[in-house]
Amino acid sequence: MPSEPPRSLPHPAAPRLSPAACSPTRGGSMMVLMGTMPKPQHLRELPLVSVPQGIPTQVCLTCKVCCRFPEIDSFLRPYFTEAEIRAAIAHGIPEAAFPRHEGCQIEVVPHPAGEGYLCPAFDPVTSRCRIYEVRPFDCQLYPFVIMWDSAQKMVVLGWDTKCPYLMAQTQGRSQTDSSRHLANGHLLLSPECQTIAEAVATRIEAAAMLDVLAAHPALITRYQDDVVVLRALGELTERVRRKQRAQSSPSC
Ligand code: SF4
Repeated sequence: MPSEPPRSLPHPAAPRLSPAACSPTRGGSMMVLMGTMPKPQHLRELPLVSVPQGIPTQVCLTCKVCCRFPEIDSFLRPYFTEAEIRAAIAHGIPEAAFPRHEGCQIEVVPHPAGEGYLCPAFDPVTSRCRIYEVRPFDCQLYPFVIMWDSAQKMVVLGWDTKCPYLMAQTQGRSQTDSSRHLANGHLLLSPECQTIAEAVATRIEAAAMLDVLAAHPALITRYQDDVVVLRALGELTERVRRKQRAQSSPSC
């Protein structure tokens, strides 16, 4: 992977059906002490969620991309919902890593033996995530990415080409093999990866997940030109647009 790390990095340590990953986000950082902010009702009881995994664990364990960030304010830092923040803190992550306990990107820390920054949950010695079992949705999702398309009209599911596993899936195949065909911003995945992508899309557009994403729109990233679009997420787009219309409508 490139020097510009993913916004969500896996932490190779924890295998899922495959690997581990994390993700991105953007976001400012208001310094608010945990426990001192009022909790909007719609954010209170969002459950922890899980996403189908598709990358072999060993790939993540040997990868040097995820969970590491070049800048302290990288927009790729993973976003945690309120429930995910509570779980992370319960598993030993300092409260100070989360400036807004109702949902925010995690605050990264300087790499103890190198350049750049690390997610505070990442163990650089073992290359494992210390909170793998409760890692956030954003990390579970990676290398899949939920983002706006280039026209900012549709929310789409994409796959981050910074993930070495994706490149491994597209190299060494014949030109006629549709699984390596990359054109018009769309990547035709291998049948196995396509199955996982569809499972992820189905999970994303399930009612419970739409609620989470509507409550935490920061989980939908801006357009990234190194993320290959896999498919549109029509139900999520409509859900987000509906919320935007409701918020912009004058109240009586
Ligand atoms: S929470 Fe775990 S998987 Fe996510 S960025 Fe941090 S170390 Fe990586």
